[in-house]
Amino acid sequence: MKKIVLTSIRKMEPTVGDEPKIEKPTDVKIKVSVVGVCGSDIHYYSEGKIGSQVVKYPFPVGHECSGIIEEIGEEVSRVKVGDLVVIDPSVHCGECDQCRGGRPHTCRNNKFLGCPGQLDGCLAESIVMPEFTCFPVTGKLSKTQAALIEPLSIGVYAVNLANISDIKISAGIFGAGPIGISILMKLLAEGVSNVGTIEPLEYRLKKASEIGASYLINPEKEDVETEVQKREELLLDVVFEASGEQEAVSNAIKILKPGGKLVLVGIPPSAEYAFNMDLMRRKELTVINVRRQNHCVEEAIDLVVSGKIDVEKMVTHNFSFDETPVAFDIVEGYKDGAIKAMINL
Ligand SMILES: [Zn+2]
Ligand SMILES: [Zn+2]
Repeated sequence: MKKIVLTSIRKMEPTVGDEPKIEKPTDVKIKVSVVGVCGSDIHYYSEGKIGSQVVKYPFPVGHECSGIIEEIGEEVSRVKVGDLVVIDPSVHCGECDQCRGGRPHTCRNNKFLGCPGQLDGCLAESIVMPEFTCFPVTGKLSKTQAALIEPLSIGVYAVNLANISDIKISAGIFGAGPIGISILMKLLAEGVSNVGTIEPLEYRLKKASEIGASYLINPEKEDVETEVQKREELLLDVVFEASGEQEAVSNAIKILKPGGKLVLVGIPPSAEYAFNMDLMRRKELTVINVRRQNHCVEEAIDLVVSGKIDVEKMVTHNFSFDETPVAFDIVEGYKDGAIKAMINL
């Protein structure tokens, strides 16, 4: 079986590995169809780690994928051979306090697809996963749409965590990468139409505008606080941070109104952020952390099937399996207007 593995920093190579085998009666073997290149894959590619998660070479990354069921274990009932499936990359234990408490995404024994030391990624012709990670979507979604459900579900979850009770609120998003755009798409689908996007890359601002952002701010050219104040005198109710930048967090605190919510989704390069606690306390801001997603895959599928979200709008590039190293190079360097690159196996 062919797979593409990281062999050192910024180096990927094709290799031949053993066919993965069904081990448990509830496992399924999936022929991978489409893989999305994620910002977290890029961290492993360019830095060899995310925080304490360090790559041991060779390692296949990739966790955003769709595929076709090619073999099922004896007890599988959820899917059948030939089904196109959305794959939730998160494999929880089902037994710990977190799983029992309805938080499988913070499972203490969680294993994640394409995460070093956990599960090999999906940049491989076939993978084996437990059936509960598979959501059949034959005839409902394309292979590409199905692979985009994973990043979309994170945007859906971030917005759900913000617990917006009134669609007339004013919202802001830092970052117009795939997650920032997923958040924007979910907000618009909910009927929240007053959403500003703050992003230094002009081509990404243009994409946010095409999707429906109400106003755009380039923090490298304009003062974020001044620009927001021009549009929203009382400032913003909710701000989503999807860039992982300290400067974005600092600006977010400035542009939130008293009682506002700061939703942290982006992965910062270092483990720590500094917060202006004087402002945070005076405004009594709420900070919400987002860990991947929890129970939002089905909602994300429904939003795409119903046409409320055109998730493919975030795709800027398509590559063949052999072109995977080129895809990573382009996404890492923000080259050629890259937002979301898809690899077609
Ligand atoms: Zn991802
Ligand atoms: Zn668990």
